[in-house]
Amino acid sequence: MFRTELAVVGAGPAGLSAALAAAECGVATLIVDNGSTPGGQLVKQTHKFFGSKAEHAGTRGIDIARLLAGELQRSPQVEYWSESTALGYYEDQVLLVEREGRAHAVHCDALVVATGAAERYLVFPGNDLPGVYGAGAVQTLMNVHGVKPGERVLMVGAGNIGLIVSYQLLQAGVHVAAVVEAARYIGGYAVHASKLRRLSVPILTSHTVKEAHGHEQVERATVWRIDETFAGIPGTEIEFDVDVICLAVGLSPVTDLLWQIGCKMRYVPELGGHVPIRNENMQTTRSEVFVAGDASGVEEGSSAMVTGRLAGYAAAAHLGKCPDFESKRRECQRALDALRAGPSGQKVRTGLSAVVSMEAVTC
Ligand SMILES: Cc1cc2nc3c(=O)[nH]c(=O)nc-3n(C[C@H](O)[C@H](O)[C@H](O)COP(=O)(O)OP(=O)(O)OC[C@H]3O[C@@H](n4cnc5c(N)ncnc54)[C@H](O)[C@@H]3O)c2cc1C
Repeated sequence: MFRTELAVVGAGPAGLSAALAAAECGVATLIVDNGSTPGGQLVKQTHKFFGSKAEHAGTRGIDIARLLAGELQRSPQVEYWSESTALGYYEDQVLLVEREGRAHAVHCDALVVATGAAERYLVFPGNDLPGVYGAGAVQTLMNVHGVKPGERVLMVGAGNIGLIVSYQLLQAGVHVAAVVEAARYIGGYAVHASKLRRLSVPILTSHTVKEAHGHEQVERATVWRIDETFAGIPGTEIEFDVDVICLAVGLSPVTDLLWQIGCKMRYVPELGGHVPIRNENMQTTRSEVFVAGDASGVEEGSSAMVTGRLAGYAAAAHLGKCPDFESKRRECQRALDALRAGPSGQKVRTGLSAVVSMEAVTC
């Protein structure tokens, strides 16, 4: 049995920040991640981050991952297990971890779940043809492995991810035939949309993919205009000669572990799906279990780092090791309020009001 004070599942920006905050308070911490390098989503993000300067805006995602991982290496309080998957959390606070083909029992006094988010998919005829990818997979192929996914791409989704990945495809010499977006407006930042428009990529709002065609792989795609009920309008079809259809249609929190633990969950569409009920310290309805980052509701890397820090300090306080927790909590809350301010933060604010209760209920 491996023993640690705190176990953190997930080494994305949230998990790394949680581990660093807890270690700063002198908490012995084990962080487990199923990837080969720390950083979660950041390892494939070659673009400079938007968001807050305090949370590394202007730095490339991949460099933020290196920065956080570097700090982690300098912290003797933290042990890091890569290529390790948390399978479940059982009685007596035992986390079961699969590593190098073996199951390891890890006893922890507190747990932070920072498992991130998973890509959503779309239902349409032909969506099982090779050549239909999620945007995360396209980023991994191009930015991690240096492999082009194809030659001509139809992007589905004009949120920030769809716009950024389209631009990265163009930089890699791939033709982007169009970006289609079901909503009546472009969800991503104008700065990303303008870059595409300057390069003559059409962005078709109120359009979606109707069908993918091909024998062994995608050879063509049909898109059509949709009405306000999102139903396709016959006669508005447009054909695109593409070999890749890239789906950037949103993310859902990865919450399997939280369900298995028995944390109380709630469906909050504004946060991407089911998320755990928690208090303002990221403490779930299981008092020793905390949540952080996209697993607590899909936001951004900047807020993932801050909720991670908050969860790390709160877990340390739960273990009696963060005497100045109140001032640290206020500092994190101020940073979160700033990141969630304004019209772009409205959706998240609405979602949080449905899920953050002032007191966590202890099971
Ligand atoms: C194309 C794109 C561009 C973006 N650009 C920006 C930007 O400019 N600015 C910004 O602020 N945000 C940006 N984001 C969002 C940002 O990347 C995410 O919000 C952030 O990575 C979430 O951090 P996280 O730590 O919660 O999760 P993740 O980064 O997803 O990390 C979760 C980690 O947990 C691991 N894991 C999951 N389950 C288990 C398990 N059972 N056992 C072990 N490990 C597990 C995963 O493998 C992963 O490594 C972008 C996202 C994308 C896809």
